[in-house]
Formats: sequence, structure tokens, C-alpha cells
Amino acid sequence: MSVIDNLPPLREVIASHQLSARKSLGQNFLLDLNLTAKIARQAGDLSGCDVLEIGPGPGGLTRGLLSEGARRVLAIEKDQRCLPALDQIAQAYPGQLTIINGDALEIDPLAHLTPPIRIAANLPYNVGTELLVRWLTPKEWPPFWQSLTLMFQREVAERIVAQPGSKAYGRLALLAQWRADAKIALSLPPGAFTPPPKVSSAVVHLTALEKPRFEADAATLSRVVAAAFNQRRKMLRASLKSAAPDIEDHLNAAGIPPTERAEQVSLEAFCALARSIKNHS
Ligand code: SAM
Repeated sequence: MSVIDNLPPLREVIASHQLSARKSLGQNFLLDLNLTAKIARQAGDLSGCDVLEIGPGPGGLTRGLLSEGARRVLAIEKDQRCLPALDQIAQAYPGQLTIINGDALEIDPLAHLTPPIRIAANLPYNVGTELLVRWLTPKEWPPFWQSLTLMFQREVAERIVAQPGSKAYGRLALLAQWRADAKIALSLPPGAFTPPPKVSSAVVHLTALEKPRFEADAATLSRVVAAAFNQRRKMLRASLKSAAPDIEDHLNAAGIPPTERAEQVSLEAFCALARSIKNHS
């Protein structure tokens, strides 16, 4: 449910706080509050949830998350020029918005969050991919978050949801889909942003599964998938030669023809391969 917050339009916020976009910080802002509310709705039912937002900038998505009913938002922003604009939002939603000025790659947000926790962000793409990999590879599963709703370059979004047999299929797809449901929730043209980036974007929504889709040791699976896709054009009996002695036996045990290429192998088969290797190590 949307609420009216009496905050000024984002173009006015940007002008009054002189928030000219900085390329070095990957700043491409969303100024259409209908769109930011729509993105916030992709994050699921926010009532009763704390939301971690990385890179709020002038606060378009922050406002969307709060107007769509988030219990609390913790926003981590590197650019201190954005803080006055974010403070204004905090005043419109007393007690619901906490702002931390810093680098999301260096801050542990957990001390400030109470479960259930969802994560939402429109981030520079390089930071987004690094955080996604971190959020998908915690020591314990299930992770501290229930869902991730993240903006990516369209090409990266396609790599996250890719299926076997496609060019986009690889480590990111396997990592994401092993322990989460992943879908593209929205596609956005460059013109949705100010200034417009060179490429199209997409919002990816990931929901954490209670347990991995197929049993496997995380480190072994990661090592096998990395080796297989590092030489994705080679047959697996060659690309995985150093992954385990008797690799052909393991491939056969997992039901994978040793002449197959990584691109054709399903997540289930990669997990079976990882189990076979782990059981004999
Ligand atoms: N969420 C806002 C929106 O949708 O309009 C801004 C999006 S802009 C693509 C990315 C934001 O992330 C910028 O405000 C930038 O300053 C911030 N940022 C970049 N690197 C960051 C980092 N390492 N930690 C936290 N914020 C970062």
C-alpha cells in the first residue's frame, strides 16, 4: 500500500542539493517515483520486514520501499553529498530509516537489522555483482536475507537466470540457482535513468531456498564449476583433468558424458559430480 509522504519531487531534491551524478560512483539515478514504487513491490511483502538498501543516492528507491510499507530501511550510501536528501526522508518516516555513510563492501550491516530481512538495491554494476556473490556464499545456509531485489546490466541479469545450453549459462547461474529461485522481474531501458547508461538494465529477484536445491559440498561444487567454465569450450574430461584423479569415472558416476561441455550440464548433474568427487577425496 502506498502512502503519501509530502516529500518534494526527486528532480527538485537533486537540484536543491546539487547532486550532479558522478560517473566514478556509478551514479545513474531513478527519478520516477512510480517506477521506484514498482521496483519496491518486486521485493515482495515488505510489511514486517527490515530492508537493507545499498546505494540509495537521492533516495528514489528508498522512498519506494518506505511508501510500500517496509518496517524499517537501513540505507548504506558512499557519497556524503546524498546525506541531506536522505535525512529529509528519515524525517518524513520517523524511526523507519537509518542511514550509514560508507562503502557497502566494508560495512557489516547485520548489527543494525532485525529478521526477516530483504535486500533491495540499484547499485553500480561492479559493486552489485561482488555483493551478490558474497550474499550467495555465506558460511551458513539459509542466509540472513529472505530475498534480493537488485538492478543489473541486462546482460548480467541474463547470466543469473540462464539455463543450460545458452551462452549466458555459467558460474553465476549455477551459484544463484543452487540455493535460490532467480527471475528477471522487470526490464528497464537506459532512458529510465538520469543520466541514461549505455546499456539496458533489469531487476533480478532472488528468493533464498531453505536448503540447497541439490545436495553438494559448497567448496567442491564451486571448484568444479570454476574449472569447467574456465575452459568452457573444452570437453569436461579435459577441462576437469586437474579437478580430481579419475575424473572420467566421476563424470560417468554423475551421468555426464565425459565428452560433454560445461555449457550443457545441468545444476543437478554438477551437484552429482561434486558429490562423487567429495566422497572419494
Ligand atoms: N538507488 C539510487 C537510485 O536508484 O536512484 C542511486 C542509484 S546509483 C546507480 C548507485 C548509488 O550507489 C549511488 O548513489 C552511489 O553513490 C552509490 N554507491 C556506489 N558505490 C557504493 C558503495 N561501494 N557503497 C555504497 N554506495 C555506493
